[in-house]
Amino acid sequence: MPKTTTAKAKARPAKKPVARRKVAAKTAPAPAFRLTYSTMFNPPEEMHTRYDKALAKVKAGMGKDVGMIINGQERFVADKFEDRSPINTDWVLGTFQKGSKQDAEDALAAAHAAWPKWANMKWQDRVRLLRKAAANIEKRVYEIGVVLSLEVGKNRMEGLGDAQETADLIYYSCDSMERNGGFIKPMGTDPLTGFTSTNVSVLRPYGVWVVISPFNFPFALAGGPSGAALVAGNTVVFKPATDTPWTGRLLAECMRDAGIPDGVFNYVTGPGSTVGQTLIDDPRVAGITFTGSYNVGMHIYRAFAAGRYPRPVIAEMGGKNPAVVTRHADLETAATGIVRSAFGLQGQKCSACSRIIVEAPVKDKLAALIVAKTEALKIGDPTLRENYLGPVANAGGYREFGEFAEELSGAGTILTGGHQLKQGDYAKGYFCEATVVDNVPHSHRLWKHEMFLPITMITAVDSLQSALAMANDVDYGLTAGFYGSAKEAETFFNHIEAGVTYANRPQGATTGAWPGFQPFGGWKGSGSSGKNGGGLYYVPLYMHEQIQTRVKKD
Ligand code: NAP
Ligand code: MG
Repeated sequence: MPKTTTAKAKARPAKKPVARRKVAAKTAPAPAFRLTYSTMFNPPEEMHTRYDKALAKVKAGMGKDVGMIINGQERFVADKFEDRSPINTDWVLGTFQKGSKQDAEDALAAAHAAWPKWANMKWQDRVRLLRKAAANIEKRVYEIGVVLSLEVGKNRMEGLGDAQETADLIYYSCDSMERNGGFIKPMGTDPLTGFTSTNVSVLRPYGVWVVISPFNFPFALAGGPSGAALVAGNTVVFKPATDTPWTGRLLAECMRDAGIPDGVFNYVTGPGSTVGQTLIDDPRVAGITFTGSYNVGMHIYRAFAAGRYPRPVIAEMGGKNPAVVTRHADLETAATGIVRSAFGLQGQKCSACSRIIVEAPVKDKLAALIVAKTEALKIGDPTLRENYLGPVANAGGYREFGEFAEELSGAGTILTGGHQLKQGDYAKGYFCEATVVDNVPHSHRLWKHEMFLPITMITAVDSLQSALAMANDVDYGLTAGFYGSAKEAETFFNHIEAGVTYANRPQGATTGAWPGFQPFGGWKGSGSSGKNGGGLYYVPLYMHEQIQTRVKKD
């Protein structure tokens, strides 16, 4: 197993603090427990104690009016929107600024003005500042985890995971710069009689980079791309999803408090259709990382193509992720992994397992195991340690759950679940039962449509070949899981069309990627770049190559 890159990063002594701002370097004592790939499946008691402490503190401070950060300045505007918790919609988490076209343009202007200096700074200095931002995230990891629970409806591990993963993604990008010497590489010396000609390949930043993030991993999918864009030397304008402005603000604070100069990282809030669209339409934008739905992602991809010249669009989009199970599978392991991936974060992961494609002889047995494990999941306020499932994130998802459940009960058989929960403690939140559906004909539209809710569908096929054909017969290609023999697993890897694939994994059939271990990204309609976040080839996506030839007379 590879070593965690962050452990390495942490061991490095912190260098001199940045002059410009005070860095809160000595506030909290370093936590003894750190969420890593190896501790995440079995956290100690200490994690709960710290989470509970942070929960009390965060709840006591809810309901503030929270500004945007443009060019290092707080910006408040007259138009506001409320951020309410999906756990209980009476909880007003904060009031946020409904930014305008002008605010978006001001943020772009700030990023544009800050770019030349940031781009020409030594890359080692950018690495130092970004590591500080990642360290700030780690210092506030419990607070951020709690906000993720309150704002998205994540359970404790999911909330803390999103926060810690962000720090690890940023460290990974910093390490990537270092491992590659800032992507400055000598090329061949060409043989010219009478001259010496030396050639160097240099990857250089593009300019102003826009980062637009979704509601489901609002911290990691904002901080990961931003960290890579920044360390590469781009400046950033970041717009979070309207459902998750608070986590976005916390990221902006971690960047600011690291001493990242004014204008280098700007945080604007407001609707995608206005603020987001303004960012996309502006010719000063050199590149974009969008993470969200297929429809919005393709809209952005096409809009960018209409510009004066090609510009990079890293679009990370939806999924319709299959788990393929053969007659040789360990069904207990398969059911464990499938239930985790179908219902973790209420099925609202882009990597959620929404299709279970199983060889006919073992289908009934697998379905029974899945149903039993699903019915054992506890649902409720996800800030409480006993609950695994929280609410779905917003009113739209809650309404759609009812519509899909009705459609599926007509088209097939609901084995378990199928209801919104409306009584008692559930009354003011968006709670939906974990739902497993069988007997839906293969021609039904919902075999291809990403529902993004706690609903998974199971079906029988006659062979591994048929299973793979069905698995690939969608426009998406994000993650995929497999349970069966080692030999069959090789067939699966060779034929499955997906960017993140797992075989025989109880920790999750299709979910649970971690930077440095399973870099994350999709094929086909799930992603535009062909390279995964938190992986070997990610940071170079944020730079273009310049060959520098220097000639001297002998
Ligand atoms: P979404 O509705 O597509 O929104 C994503 C972001 O785009 C939000 O910040 C949204 O702002 C913004 N936006 C909307 N319209 C825009 C426009 N015209 N111009 C610019 N920005 C615009 O997605 P979501 O519901 O938040 O997230 C769920 C989706 O994300 C799922 O499809 C999921 O599979 C996908 N996802 C993919 C990955 C991956 O790595 N491949 C990871 C996580 C999630 P508003 O909120 O203000 O509308
Ligand atoms: Mg909300």
